[in-house]
Amino acid sequence: MVFAHPDDAEFGIAGTVATWTGLGAEVVYVSVTDGSGGSNEVGADREELRSIREAEQREACDVLGVRECVFLGWRDGSVEPTMDLRRAITREARRVRPDVLVSPDPTRMWDEGRGYVNHPDHRAVGIACLAVVNPDAPTRLQFPELLEEGLEPFEIPNLWIPTYEGEADTFVDISDTIDTKIRALRCHRSQVQDRPVDQWLRDRAEERGGSRGIRYAEAFKTFRLKDEETE
Ligand SMILES: [Zn+2]
Repeated sequence: MVFAHPDDAEFGIAGTVATWTGLGAEVVYVSVTDGSGGSNEVGADREELRSIREAEQREACDVLGVRECVFLGWRDGSVEPTMDLRRAITREARRVRPDVLVSPDPTRMWDEGRGYVNHPDHRAVGIACLAVVNPDAPTRLQFPELLEEGLEPFEIPNLWIPTYEGEADTFVDISDTIDTKIRALRCHRSQVQDRPVDQWLRDRAEERGGSRGIRYAEAFKTFRLKDEETE
């Protein structure tokens, strides 16, 4: 799971994470930024926030059974899909060699009807992840310096992008894990404080599942990038 900020995964896909870890899957988080922009309080300090947000993310990972959480250390609010970012994500992809890479949607500019303009860090991470899928992770001649680190090329078999019910081809039933998702999101105390996020998560999950007759769901656009027989 590659995402921009500590809490992105909990807002978006933690029901799927809990479902997968519950089935015995190993999940690794890669947080691109340090979350250091996540406060509008007068006197807020990036250094202080960075350590708070890392601790909150690790706590959420424990709730969800996430095996490992890597922080790439980009400054919250200034992510661009540079070669440095592509290299850093490729390093993790070649090291972890995942069956599925979950990436933010690089095309999402806004959320129509809900008065939300998407954070550019989300899009930038999505663009970088697509470049990691092709060509960076599988191509030997991309980032030869990673070969020197012992990281051989790796073809990522599946790409999943969280999306809205209308654009999704895959729905994960999170009815049994939504409470765990809420508990994990609640670990991000600096972000959710007294906000009614429980109901917000339930409403979103109901919208996702509604069209499929699922009580609570998360929705994805998925790409199978490798043929079965070559896996
Ligand atoms: Zn975010």
